[in-house]
Amino acid sequence: MVNLIIFGPPGAGKGTQSVRIAQKYQLKHISTGEILREEVRIESKCGRVAKVYMDEGKLVPDEVLINILRRVIDENRYVNGFIFDGFPRTLVQAEELDKMLHHEDLSISLVLSLIVDHEELIERLYKRALQEGRADDKARVIHQRLETYNKMTAPLLDYFEAQGKLATVPGIGTIDDIFQSLYSNIDKLYH
Ligand code: AMP
Repeated sequence: MVNLIIFGPPGAGKGTQSVRIAQKYQLKHISTGEILREEVRIESKCGRVAKVYMDEGKLVPDEVLINILRRVIDENRYVNGFIFDGFPRTLVQAEELDKMLHHEDLSISLVLSLIVDHEELIERLYKRALQEGRADDKARVIHQRLETYNKMTAPLLDYFEAQGKLATVPGIGTIDDIFQSLYSNIDKLYH
């Protein structure tokens, strides 16, 4: 079973790429951002907690995310594998994910890290704000989310590197070019 993490700052294109990868390799796409937005929409207990953090561009507490992940892994016992998008975002989450998978005799096969420079990210996030009207794509929150990524999430690259699981892929160029670079890394896992 192949389990992937797609990693990168907000605006790197994780969502777009994950959907295509999930389709091509028949993996279950888990986007914690999407799950949380749905919880907020239905005003569940965890959605009400999450909203406060999401509106500020901050990370929702690890405990909330770990509970969600536990539920999702449990509900998808018979899939070919997972592609995790937007998770893990802290060291605690990364360690918990490893433990949860280990418990099922599974592990992360590869972490695909999309590299996009800061100016390009800002431009993309502003554009998305206009197109999709996501509540957290407002100017102040965009900057906060990038800062949160740099402070809390980017250090995870060292954790993945130490595990020998990190593949870095340029996140610029045409969408198809980026897919090709991602595929060439993933294909190696199947040979
Ligand atoms: P995303 O769509 O992945 O950019 O996520 C949108 C927002 O959901 C983030 O800015 C966080 O507030 C929250 N979120 C999503 N995934 C996580 C996570 N793994 N840990 C903490 N907060 C998260």
